[in-house]
Amino acid sequence: MNRAISLHRLQQLDQEEESLRHRLREVTAALGETPTLQEARQAVQRAANDAHRWAVRQRDLELAIRGLKDEITSAERTLYNGSVRNPKALDDLQKKVLSLKKLQEKREEELLEAMIAREEAEEAQKQAQAHLVEVESAWRRDQAALEAEKGQLEGRLGEIRRARAALLPTIPREDLELYRNLRRTRGGMAVAVMRFGACTACGMEVPSGRLERAREMDLFFCGNCERILIPEEALL
Ligand SMILES: [Zn+2]
Repeated sequence: MNRAISLHRLQQLDQEEESLRHRLREVTAALGETPTLQEARQAVQRAANDAHRWAVRQRDLELAIRGLKDEITSAERTLYNGSVRNPKALDDLQKKVLSLKKLQEKREEELLEAMIAREEAEEAQKQAQAHLVEVESAWRRDQAALEAEKGQLEGRLGEIRRARAALLPTIPREDLELYRNLRRTRGGMAVAVMRFGACTACGMEVPSGRLERAREMDLFFCGNCERILIPEEALL
């Protein structure tokens, strides 16, 4: 039964190594920046650009309004200081003042809209920034946990490697070949535990006559799935 016990032990190590490697690949892939973090950072950038654009628009409008006011003041001065006497010229000047005032009104409405939009954009930027801080801190926690898990996985894989290295020389070459063939062709399970006289891999009961002989043999096989069987009590 020692040969089956060794192969069963090897299978446990191999199966654990497989699942650890699988998890290690997942952990490694999850390390680094996540799409959620990148998206949160881009949202802050977008909001900041927005706020900046509205601030520029506000400043441009304020400058335009100041220019219009100067122009109106100067036109009105000319209008009322008596320097222009020609009625047609006076009329034109009056029209010019009127149209400048209309334009000023329009620009002032636009300025109000720009100021409101700027406030909203700045508020949105603040919220995006706060969201980013939250996402970043959750991400840092996750990354630290993943790094810790990676270390544990690598440590355990090292233990498995050492245990395998110690176990392999004790297994005869033909057993190893048999084991590898069965692992390859039987869904990764070469050795099945026998519980209450039945193979736990396929459920087939082992006839009692074979069971008697099995106790004396080093290796015996399930008559149905052909896996190496090991009585559960042999593992206790
Ligand atoms: Zn079986």
